[in-house]
Amino acid sequence: MQGKIKQFEALDQAIRTFRFIQNSCLRYWMDNPKVSRNDLYKYCKVLADNPESPWASRLNSQARQAAAERAWSAIARFYDNCKKQIRGKKGYPKFKKARTRGSVEYKVTGWKLSEDRKQISFTDKFGAGRFKLKGTRDLNFYQLEQIKRVRVVRRSDGHYVQFVLNVERTEDREPTGKTVGLDVGLKYFYTDSNGNTVENPRHLRRAEKHLKRAQRRVSRKVKGSKNRRKAIKRLGKAHLKVQRQRKDFAVKAARCVVKSNDFVSFEDLQIRNLVKNRRLAKSIGDAAWGEFRRWIEYFGKVFGVATVAVSPHYTSQDCSNCGEVVKKSLSTRTHVCPHCGHVQDRDQNAAINILKKGLSTAGHVGINAWGENDLCLNRAIG
Ligand SMILES: [Zn+2]
Repeated sequence: MQGKIKQFEALDQAIRTFRFIQNSCLRYWMDNPKVSRNDLYKYCKVLADNPESPWASRLNSQARQAAAERAWSAIARFYDNCKKQIRGKKGYPKFKKARTRGSVEYKVTGWKLSEDRKQISFTDKFGAGRFKLKGTRDLNFYQLEQIKRVRVVRRSDGHYVQFVLNVERTEDREPTGKTVGLDVGLKYFYTDSNGNTVENPRHLRRAEKHLKRAQRRVSRKVKGSKNRRKAIKRLGKAHLKVQRQRKDFAVKAARCVVKSNDFVSFEDLQIRNLVKNRRLAKSIGDAAWGEFRRWIEYFGKVFGVATVAVSPHYTSQDCSNCGEVVKKSLSTRTHVCPHCGHVQDRDQNAAINILKKGLSTAGHVGINAWGENDLCLNRAIG
């Protein structure tokens, strides 16, 4: 395994160099506030040619650019906040500190996938060489050209490769003529307007319980003690596990529902937090729903399916048949309408209202922008 350790050391050197360039660019901007992004690109070359920082030239040139871009995006965000005259902190760019966590980002050169896509090699002068990609997700599903960046991320439990995919990706799909509304809840992950339910994944629940326990363990340990450090490390791992399982589940569920419908309407969960019971909103489901929503929007773009987030106001109270308001408490599981006699499962009634609302606003509401989040496939390497 000696060779392997050297390889990971080489990756860590690349990560350190990436951070060095990012911080140097920031320093350069602080000293010369008028510099542009282009000037930062040029400055990368200066750093690479400087005999005082010989390591800079070992990093792939496009990766050097990516480091400058990261520095620039922090600067741009700061300028933006100043322009918008946001009150309080403007987010003056900060230097990246050396931490256990770090990353290096390559663009389309400096790495190479093997023919079967089970291995990746890093080809710049750090000489990290070839790594096996672990995990079950099939990279073959994507075209090589769709990979716009490759990030190597060091986390508390090892090194990972992230493949950042082009969100312009589209896939063919036969129209199904179906529309659907989704009501997310605690009892089921969601109930749709046809009365189908998707269960909360049990393994996710288990991982979340484990996470809570790890959190308690950390708070019980003495600050600064060795045991506390150990407990923190374990907490980090538990966090990653939950994150990963949540994402896997959200991707599968979202892909499935978008692919089989021509129109998907769901609750705007940010508003939902304000409307519904605080205790409910604070629940562990929140993070999973947020992730689910992002993937619904992503797959909506991929498959060309319209997705709409609607305000959840009254969706559980209104009658989906006649539209009259039928007040009910959280514990009432069945909707019984005294006006038209309509009887339906509470969540399905809500899901139908969400669908109706979505269809009526579809003309006005655009598909939510993906924002800064990229679609990433994560893989451990070894
Ligand atoms: Zn009714």
